[in-house]
Amino acid sequence: MSDRVAITPPHRYRNNDKAIGVGNAFWDMSEQNGLAGIVAELRDGVLTTPDGHEFVNFTCCSYLDLDSHPKVIEGAVAALRRYGVLDHCIPRSRVQIPALLELESSLGELFGADVVSAISAGVASAGLLPLLASGHLGNGTRPLMVFDKNCHVSMAGAKPTCADETEVVVCEHHDLGFLEDMCKRYQRVCYVIDGADSLGGYAPVLELAELQERYGMQVYYDDSHSVSAYGERGIGYVRTHCPVLDERTITVATLNKAFGTSGAAILLDGYDKKTLRVIERFAGALCYSQPVNTAAVGASLASAQIHRTDELTALQHRMHANIELFDRFVATAQSGTTYPIRVVPMSDETVIAAGRQVFEAGFYVSPVFFPIVARGTAGLRVMLRAGQTEEQVRALCAVLVEVGAQPAAAPLEVVR
Ligand SMILES: *Cc1c(COP(=O)(O)O)cnc(C)c1O
Repeated sequence: MSDRVAITPPHRYRNNDKAIGVGNAFWDMSEQNGLAGIVAELRDGVLTTPDGHEFVNFTCCSYLDLDSHPKVIEGAVAALRRYGVLDHCIPRSRVQIPALLELESSLGELFGADVVSAISAGVASAGLLPLLASGHLGNGTRPLMVFDKNCHVSMAGAKPTCADETEVVVCEHHDLGFLEDMCKRYQRVCYVIDGADSLGGYAPVLELAELQERYGMQVYYDDSHSVSAYGERGIGYVRTHCPVLDERTITVATLNKAFGTSGAAILLDGYDKKTLRVIERFAGALCYSQPVNTAAVGASLASAQIHRTDELTALQHRMHANIELFDRFVATAQSGTTYPIRVVPMSDETVIAAGRQVFEAGFYVSPVFFPIVARGTAGLRVMLRAGQTEEQVRALCAVLVEVGAQPAAAPLEVVR
């Protein structure tokens, strides 16, 4: 036999054997049942497969349907014409066309923050979190990086790189007691968490702000799920409620969900120009990979413009009307909240068949089941949008009840 060395992986923060072993079975089963791997053309809010099956997508995160708004499409085309180039390929820290600066200035005014753009929230987190870990994005002290157990994969993926700069730990979901203990023990703590998570909950922003005030804790929020859908001018959950808007709070948000375009915004307060340069130069792919291109910049400028008008409020209202309509017919753990996501509980054994029946009736809702979620928490994920019609929502609810969803007992009061 060979005397060459076989590698024993450390698996401190990731494990592909486990991830693929568990996840691939889930995807295979979904695909075999026609609930993944679907290809369909989109026209006027209806998807059509090559064999002619029509359905409405109820698992799409474009909550305000701005991605197909005529002004957003026109904005993309107009910016391409105006700048005459899709992207002038060279790191922006050397030479850039003014497109990104125009975007950042517009988003900065909209969100009331200093904005640095990124091609995606995932790229932003992969680049920013190691800078937080080393104290370069903060007050210079290396913080203990505390990742919430449920934080989005785009943040969790940065654990190994952060661990090469500082100490990294994982805490139970929203475990304020643990965070306070760590704040008492360590010079500085940085907590990494979703502002609004993909299963329908918000971060305890006020309680976290107390820890920020008392111990100087830093919080890195990913508010991708609530920007545009929540708050005045769509500033999102975190910036609506967080009283600590300085160096201690950093928020990233994709522009690809309710904002309806492409790219991401990094929202900062209280950092000087030098630190913004450090981000542009050292936040990983922000420096060495492509930026948001001109078409996406133009689309985003148009979407930002819509955010400044009553049209945004009208779209948010339409989305909320659909959420309330859904809650009138189907009971979920999220009933009565402002959040556009609902998980309709099903058993691991029935959820795939239920998803198939709903699809055959003309609606796509994505099934989540063991092993991708814990046993006993399987369900059909439903996302309500401004663009779905009342008839579509009513018809979906009727099918969901037919396949085993629990009907709502009585009209619920909405908690805001
Ligand atoms: C959807 C989502 C992302 C992905 O955003 P991209 O801009 O496409 O990378 C990141 N974080 C959270 C919390 C999300 O929900």
